Amino acid sequence: MDVDVAEDLEEPVSDVSFDANPASAPPTADLPPAPPSGVRDIEPPVARTGPPKRLSPSSASTFQQCPKRWKMRYMDRLPDPPGQAALAGTFAHLVLEHLLQAPTPDRTVENAKVLARQCWPEIENDKDFVALELDEAESRHFRWISWKAIEGLWTLENPQDVVVEATEQLIDAEIDGVPFRGIVDRLDREDDGLVVSDYKSGKAPRPRYVEGRLAQVLLYAAAIANDLGERPRRARLLYLGQRTVEAEVTDEALEAVSVDLKQTWTSMTSSCASGEFDAKTGPLCGWCPFVGQCDEGTAEVRSRLERGSMRLDAPAVAIVAPVPAGQTT
Ligand code: SF4
Repeated sequence: MDVDVAEDLEEPVSDVSFDANPASAPPTADLPPAPPSGVRDIEPPVARTGPPKRLSPSSASTFQQCPKRWKMRYMDRLPDPPGQAALAGTFAHLVLEHLLQAPTPDRTVENAKVLARQCWPEIENDKDFVALELDEAESRHFRWISWKAIEGLWTLENPQDVVVEATEQLIDAEIDGVPFRGIVDRLDREDDGLVVSDYKSGKAPRPRYVEGRLAQVLLYAAAIANDLGERPRRARLLYLGQRTVEAEVTDEALEAVSVDLKQTWTSMTSSCASGEFDAKTGPLCGWCPFVGQCDEGTAEVRSRLERGSMRLDAPAVAIVAPVPAGQTT
């Protein structure tokens, strides 16, 4: 599709011109090249027969949610393509990664548009994006929500004030004896030390869920302390366009996330040895991509539908209880 991405990145009804000013935009040659597709995938997509060599935050979180789902995703390597929202987040991450790598004066909204134009072909040609089969209007909406996430950084901070130590930093370290690997979106240098920052394009959590969401960046902080020898002072989630959530990196905070990680690792290796992976049913079965291959999840979704406790727009509903042809409700 041949489109002017920068123009489409803005709301169609907006009366603002989004053509970047060539005089203020950096020459293309000065901008870092877009990384190869799938840069954030740190595990090869092949079926595994033994336990994993390392644990990533997303793998740990999936296992905690449901060991059976983890097995299908990380052992069997069943396809789990990201949806539109996740891909829009990937697009936003890519643009912000390049923006924060640029010299401080170049970290402007106009240059973010230039970068979005440059990064768009990579997203547009990504097999997961192609698989979405979006029509022109849907693709335009995709670019619009991606741009709102990118632009949302300015509601949280002025990127020209950020002292960036590293972006997309691969961390390989042991945490309490658990081999851990993750990619940190951004490592900032502030007056009192390092700060771990992670972009989020999803909805900011309600107060009671904040602690759980911060576990990921606290694990990064623990891994950075072990890998680089400097403990970050704070761990931060940047909910683009919404708010920042952060925690001080204390002994207690690191202890709590390390204990959780170790328990998950122990359960995971034990399941891998026994071949038994519990199906942990619940409302999230409605959003599990493997529900069609899971009897327990299928029964859970059907039961919740009968009780009226499953959202009808949950993707699993169309899989386990499709609406008969010709019936609209
Ligand atoms: S459908 Fe539910 S129980 Fe089955 S694998 Fe998915 S999350 Fe687990």
